[in-house]
Amino acid sequence: MVDPAATSMTDGLGRRIDYLRISVTDRCDLRCRYCMAERMQFLPKNQVLTLEEIALLADLFIARGVRRIRLTGGEPLVRRDIIDLIRRIGRHLDAGLQELTLTTNGTRLADHAEPLHDAGVRRINVSLDSLQADRFAHITRGGDLSAVRHGLDAARAAGLAVKINMVALKDINADEILPMLRWCDSQGFDLTLIETMPLGETGEDRTDHYLPLSHVAQEIDAHHALTPIAARTGGPARYHDVEGLGVRLGLITPLTRNFCADCNRMRMTCEGKIYMCLGHDDHVDFKAALRSGGLAAVEPLVDRALRRKPAAHDFRIGADAPTAAVQRHMSVTGG
Ligand code: SAM
Ligand code: SF4
Repeated sequence: MVDPAATSMTDGLGRRIDYLRISVTDRCDLRCRYCMAERMQFLPKNQVLTLEEIALLADLFIARGVRRIRLTGGEPLVRRDIIDLIRRIGRHLDAGLQELTLTTNGTRLADHAEPLHDAGVRRINVSLDSLQADRFAHITRGGDLSAVRHGLDAARAAGLAVKINMVALKDINADEILPMLRWCDSQGFDLTLIETMPLGETGEDRTDHYLPLSHVAQEIDAHHALTPIAARTGGPARYHDVEGLGVRLGLITPLTRNFCADCNRMRMTCEGKIYMCLGHDDHVDFKAALRSGGLAAVEPLVDRALRRKPAAHDFRIGADAPTAAVQRHMSVTGG
């Protein structure tokens, strides 16, 4: 028998879209150099969806066939009462929703790890680009590494599985990639490396620090042989076993190896805009419909969004490419 949810969330190219990322805020307590400008203009509060509106839209997407939701931002843990939202969405776990996860910078994890686990979260991604306090402060423009380390300890104690996200940056943290891999092994964490993407102006030239992961993988392989794992999660990362270490290594290579043919996701901003691709400006605005006509007015927009999912992004970094492929920062669409 055909699963109605499976067919109702299929895009124009036959890809099944069952993964939703929700950016719950565009605000953040850090200013990572590859992500944001030093001075950012954030959205006024009345333009941001309330937690109740986010929950209602999550209900709708789950009813339509979304099976995994990741909350992100901006920094999701700076949003007040975020745990209430997570508890509310978590009610769908085992009743339609298979997984609820979170991506965080970890600065507020020490206080939130246990409540996250209690709300049904079992896995989190924590962004960490350096294990050196001064370098971490440089990359994040002022972040405190020890807060993140405490957060990671709390996550482990609470029983959350942790994957570290590290953006690979030439001349900034390239020499820390092997140490980070070995440290993740010692901590029981997985590691995903990410190529810096041209999203939004940051006041810096990303070309200076762009590091192709094809080179990085060769270097790691010389020390710890990498074996690709056949299993895919439907996400952009390609995973590898790492010889001698218990870490699963993910590589996200939007620049050097396109993964759009397998894309299963869409993204909702904290303003209620649905982007079907990180690398395109096209979107469908759910907030206006929700505020004027309720969920009944939003329902037809889901199909409109699905029909508009593009085949692929077109990220380039280099002398002939614009500094930003789209003007939105990653923190707006949700990383
Ligand atoms: N604040 C949270 C965090 O840092 O984990 C969640 C939001 S952040 C936008 C999500 C992920 O996007 C982080 O792992 C971050 O390193 C990554 N990211 C942000 N800007 C990026 C860019 N221009 N290129 C590649 N990755 C980026
Ligand atoms: Fe904030 Fe995350 Fe962007 Fe860093 S990567 S500035 S922590 S949203």
